[in-house]
Parts: sequence; structure tokens; C-alpha cells
Amino acid sequence: MLYTIPDYYHQFQCVADRCEDTCCAGWQIVADRRALERYRKVRGPFRKKLRSSVDWKEGTFRQSEDKRCAFLKEDNLCEMYTELGKDSLCRTCRRYPRHVEEFENVREITLSVSCPEVAKILLAKKEPVKFLSYEKEGEEEYEDFDPFLYSELLDGRDLMIRILQDRKKPLDLRAGLILAIAHDMQVRIKKGEIFSCQEVLERYQTKAAEAYVQKKVQEAQSNEEQQFRYVRQMFWNLDQLERLRDDWEPYLREAEALLYRKGQKHYLEVRKEFSDWIGVHMPEWSVQCEQLLVYFLSTYFCGAVYDGRAYAKVQMAVISVLLIRELLAAQWLKNEKMLEMQDVVETVYRYSRELEHSDPNLNQMEEMMEEQLVPMFWKQI
Ligand code: SF4
Repeated sequence: MLYTIPDYYHQFQCVADRCEDTCCAGWQIVADRRALERYRKVRGPFRKKLRSSVDWKEGTFRQSEDKRCAFLKEDNLCEMYTELGKDSLCRTCRRYPRHVEEFENVREITLSVSCPEVAKILLAKKEPVKFLSYEKEGEEEYEDFDPFLYSELLDGRDLMIRILQDRKKPLDLRAGLILAIAHDMQVRIKKGEIFSCQEVLERYQTKAAEAYVQKKVQEAQSNEEQQFRYVRQMFWNLDQLERLRDDWEPYLREAEALLYRKGQKHYLEVRKEFSDWIGVHMPEWSVQCEQLLVYFLSTYFCGAVYDGRAYAKVQMAVISVLLIRELLAAQWLKNEKMLEMQDVVETVYRYSRELEHSDPNLNQMEEMMEEQLVPMFWKQI
């Protein structure tokens, strides 16, 4: 079995009760069967707490009214951990913030930026992320796994990550190129012409294709009305998603009012001023965008082997970075035109939680991408 991890993987350490937030609130924790069997066998004083804190029918941990896990104490430590030890945790709690994507004979392990400590590591990283692989014994066969499509997706993802990490190219061109590659791969996947994906990958390494995408990016960037309508629509789409934290809705409403309610002219002025400010005061933003794009792309793109939605996954990666940037612009206005690294960290982990801790949200986001295609105007990220 082949395992891959990002090169910052071993930097992560949970800070438990010193965490600025907690991963034990706001989402429904589903316990695995083996953990539930262990909990049934527990005797002694903790048995009563266990019996009342687990929804045995659903196999989930109960939550308080403010959506905190029933085992999460006031001091933000886990009672299960303190009473029964680390080995008592269910798989979800043991793994988090590790995220595992499973393919035939492959496990891709990433760290979710929904954890503040992971967001800090990724956003502070200056060098391009590398992915490390190692082998462990064991083989498996999946019944309906398409190894040919998987192999094309892997090649496509490798090229897209190389392009995203090519810092000689402007970021808008890099984003435009990965959108174009995913778009053309999608056309071939739909037609069942999977092997011709290689032609796409070769084409987008030529100067001619780069010049073509550059022209398309410039054309889209000159259409400010389209940009305003599209970004606002994408922001509204965020509102359609299932909400995991109660404070997410007011946060979105406030950002929406600050950015869009005064109309297109005001929005474009704010965007221009914010871009100028960020260029001067946060020059690391372009590297942070790259790291986030690589994060979303590397985590989700190869999952297209199961649903065929390659293009939607790349669009979701680009839109996610764009929306994070919009939320940051709103925060900047709120902070009287100031931002700290902590604002970026917080915006990233809050966004990631709402999107990535909910499979229906990930699914809905991809569906929305299929309905409202992303134009190539990424100057603003
Ligand atoms: S969010 Fe991350 S750092 Fe905080 S408690 Fe959870 S795993 Fe630990």
C-alpha cells in the first residue's frame, strides 16, 4: 500500500485545551462500530456518562444546545480522553485533523486546515509544498475502481500542482491554466476518451497554450460587471450551504453587507484599495493563495475517479480561495483597514470547517460549480 503525506505533516501537534477554538463542537461526530463496541463494555463510574452521551441508534455523540460534544468539558478537554485514555477515542477523533482519501492500494493523508494549528502551519510555509510517499505492506482490490482514469487524474494533478508552484508565472495565469486543463480533461472524461487526456496535459505545457489562457484571463479581467455579479453570486451560494456553527450566518451577513450592499462601484473601489493594501502590507498573500490552491486541489481532485467531476473540483479549489479573499476583504474593512496573520488563519479555518466538515456541503458546492462556471478573472486573488 502506498501512503502519501504533505511535507509539513509531522509539524502538527494538537494543542488541546490551549486551542483557540475546538474541533469538538459544531459538527456531528460519528463513532465507528469498534469504538461503540468498546464503549458498551465499559464498567465503573464513567459507564453512566457514556450511556447518556452516545446516541446508540445513530452511533453519534450527543451535543449540547450550543453544539458542543457531550464529552467536551468546560476547560475544552475531552472527558473520554481524561477518563479512559487516548486509545478509547473513536476513529474520527483519533484521526482529526488528518484527512484520508482512499484509492485502490493508495492512502493519501492530508491535514485539514479546519484545525487552527494546521492553518497556521500551512499559511506560514514559504516553500512550495512537497508530497512524500512511503510503502507499507498490504494490498487491496476495489470492485468498481477505474485504474486508467485514476492514472490520468494523477498525471493531471501533478501537472496542475507544478503549474501552481511555478512562481515565475503570475498567480492569475496559474489559476487560469489549471481551470483550462481541468475543463479540457472533463470534456474527454465525459466522452469516455480518457487516454486523450494526455494530449491536454502536453498542450498546456506549450507557450502557445499559455498565451491563449493569458489572453482569456485578461479579457475576463476587463469585464468588471461580470466579476461583481459572479463574486456576489458565489458569496450568496455560501449561504445555501448547511451551517455547522451558529456564528457563521451572522458572519456571512456582515461580510455581505460590507462588500456588496452598496453596489458595484463601491465594491470595485474596495477591491482595488484592498488589493493595493495587501500588495504592500501582506506580500506573503500570493504564496498563501498558492498553498491553499494546492491544498484544495491535492485533497479533492483525484476523488473524481468516483464521480467523474474533475472540473468542478478545480473550480471549487479556485472559488474557495476567492471566497476566503472576499471574507478577508470584509474583515479588513471591519478592522479599519488592517489585517493580521491571525485574521487570515481564522478566516481559513472557519471557511474550511463550514465547507469541509460536511459532505452535503462539499457535494452542493461542486454541483453549484457545474451550474455556474468560473470565469478566469483571478487578478483579485
Ligand atoms: S482544532 Fe486542532 S489543535 Fe484544536 S483541539 Fe482540535 S486537533 Fe487540537
